[in-house]
Amino acid sequence: AKERGRGRCEYFAPWMGERSRRQVLLERELRQALARGELSLAWQPWVAIEAWEVVSAEALVRWQHPTLGWVPPSEFIPVAEKCGLIGDIGAWVLQRACQEAQTVLGDLRISVNVSPVQMMHAGLVDDVRRALAQSGLVPERLEVEITEGVMLDATPTAMSNLHQIKALGVQIALDDFGTGYSSLAYLRRFPFDTLKIDRAFVRELLGYPDARAIVRTIVELARLLGMQTVAEGVEEAAQLDVLQEAGCTAVQGNLLAEPVSSEALRRMIDGWDVGTRP
Ligand code: C2E
Ligand code: CA
Ligand code: CA
Ligand code: CA
Repeated sequence: AKERGRGRCEYFAPWMGERSRRQVLLERELRQALARGELSLAWQPWVAIEAWEVVSAEALVRWQHPTLGWVPPSEFIPVAEKCGLIGDIGAWVLQRACQEAQTVLGDLRISVNVSPVQMMHAGLVDDVRRALAQSGLVPERLEVEITEGVMLDATPTAMSNLHQIKALGVQIALDDFGTGYSSLAYLRRFPFDTLKIDRAFVRELLGYPDARAIVRTIVELARLLGMQTVAEGVEEAAQLDVLQEAGCTAVQGNLLAEPVSSEALRRMIDGWDVGTRP
């Protein structure tokens, strides 16, 4: 029998509000989603600012349900975390991402999001190892993105997983940097390879001088600690200018490319004019 997650509800009850009815519905449907092949991946490239070259791409999970339509990950990942499905979904994402990278994306590097709940499970390292072995992807091409939530708990299992994954040769990125309470403290607890500056800072970059100062400082700090910086959610050319001036390594966002299928990303890379910023 499948293991049961905490906080699991199995039926609709009259006392339930709209919100929890939706949750129960999503949970029930999510249990079938993998088997029915409803999950897929969308890829969003990272572009190195100076070289103006696609250097990596982030895998983002997508769920298309036959009647509910597209359900965003911001809605179903928390459900999966709560009802014990994140392990299976996370393993599928790792497997699929490595396979698509190896078969479609040439020698491009990739990154995969790993939820804090996944990070606390002992089986995660085996999932990563298996995804690499079955796809044939070299570990150096894979990066795992974790959020500050992982560092907040920093349980022995989570820290051990991080170190073991890094020991495989996989890179580790700290995602959504700057949104937590003691972001700077986390940097001392683990040697991250990449720091992803949260969209919230990028969004305020043009309107607020203090946001600009914060981003400059983050980039400089990362540089001193030997990490690269990636700014998320870049939507305007003027933001790109400020990020370039700050010395940010790479950018990601709808200005450059929205998330697309691996085949579409491949076509984009093949047609990419390296070194020529439009
Ligand atoms: P994230 O890891 O911070 O991913 C970035 C999100 O910002 C993505 O939303 C992406 O589509 C969106 N985005 C990118 N550029 C722009 C932009 O220029 N403007 C705006 N407004 N948005 C932009 P998405 O794909 O809906 O994912 C939302 C979150 O769900 C992710 O945030 C991540 O926390 C989670 N997620 C997505 N895929 C996975 C996965 O495979 N596993 C896990 N554990 N979490 C995932
Ligand atoms: Ca991410
Ligand atoms: Ca992020
Ligand atoms: Ca985010």
